[in-house]
Amino acid sequence: MTVKPMIRNNICLNAHPEGCAANVRKQIEHVKKKLLPADAALAVTPKLALIVGCSTGYGLASRICAAFGYKAVTVGISFENEPSEKRSGTPGFYNNETFDKEAAASGLVSITLNGDAFSDEIKAATAQAVKQAAEKAGILLPGQSAKIDLFVYSLASPVRTDPKTGVMYKSAIKPIGTVFSGKTLNMMDGTFSDVSVEPAIEEEILNTVKVMGGEDWELWMDALDNEGLLSPQTRTLAYTYIGPESSWAIYKNGTIGKAKEDLERACCDINKNYTSQKKINGAWVAVCKALVTRSSAVIPTIPLYITSLFKVMKDKKLHEGCIEQIARLYRERLYTADSAKNADAIPVDSENRIRIDDWEMRDDVQKAVLERMKIVTPENVFNETDIAGFKRDFLEAHGFEVEGVNYE
Ligand code: NAD
Repeated sequence: MTVKPMIRNNICLNAHPEGCAANVRKQIEHVKKKLLPADAALAVTPKLALIVGCSTGYGLASRICAAFGYKAVTVGISFENEPSEKRSGTPGFYNNETFDKEAAASGLVSITLNGDAFSDEIKAATAQAVKQAAEKAGILLPGQSAKIDLFVYSLASPVRTDPKTGVMYKSAIKPIGTVFSGKTLNMMDGTFSDVSVEPAIEEEILNTVKVMGGEDWELWMDALDNEGLLSPQTRTLAYTYIGPESSWAIYKNGTIGKAKEDLERACCDINKNYTSQKKINGAWVAVCKALVTRSSAVIPTIPLYITSLFKVMKDKKLHEGCIEQIARLYRERLYTADSAKNADAIPVDSENRIRIDDWEMRDDVQKAVLERMKIVTPENVFNETDIAGFKRDFLEAHGFEVEGVNYE
């Protein structure tokens, strides 16, 4: 049977199992080539990693890098739909399946849980899974208990149910204070439309912070601490985006930006409560590059920015996808010869954030992107931007148009 992408309003409703599998294998191969050989000599690399949001995008890349780059035991949590008779599964379902299969084939222990990371139940089940994984891998010395040395929090979700009250909160991507008006690009056909988004009301701001802010990261830290899974070696990371001023009205200064501010607040609090008590090694927010994931195609103005950015970065040979970003984050920031041993040697900006968006934010890149965005029209969009690359990445994230896969 030939499975074709079903796309409505820039959202892809299905996934291709073989294509998703090929995609994961491609990322694994990249990591084996780029991360392992250089880092085999490092004294301190993660041995037991927990990745929350492990099935797609930056979380999947974080898990692949930890496992296939450093041979870490990994426990991954995500929320994915299994296939049914009527519908395909979500891409993350097939990605997880492939990850576990490839890990086992390489002798790497991995446990993947499917469930709501915001719930108390999945936090408790995760603690058991971490202990089980450590035992299975035989990495514990006699009398030693399992300790996580890397905890990556990489959730992106539109909703969250508060485990204490049972109230469900929905996030919204909206500007704050004023209407946002701009041009957006339909990456499927290259057409433009004017969009206008009303400013968020106070409740929408608070709800977005509740869903995408740092509260749940802190709850995870408390749950892991209560289970005795943290150690003075534990490093924890969450991801954020800042981007250029042209996107700030809808992103950094909008509802999602408020949530990301709260993520940074949580990072400070985790460092106060855990790092300064020597209960962990440190917590960081890492700023990543704008990439095509399942959600970025629907944020107004972002497709036009990303297609222009990709064109410029590919021309300058600076382009990276999720796996290249995270491989560089581990190799050149978190686990360098110095920083692997000493957290103070991890390069950070004035706000204690790790910057791996440095190539995207380079002055020459941003200047070229801005110029390009000004001249793009429906007539020249296929030449002046990398709309083809954006569309391919978007389809690939769902397992379609992946090189080497026979779709017939
Ligand atoms: P993504 O949509 O590809 O992945 C999200 C992950 O969260 C998936 O594994 C999904 O299963 C999981 N998830 C969602 N809800 C869940 C729930 N209730 N329980 C368990 N798992 C759940 O997202 P992404 O783009 O990789 O984003 C990850 C992080 O990186 C986010 O914090 C995002 O803001 C940040 N980031 C993204 C970009 C970008 O351009 N995509 C850039 C910089 C930073």
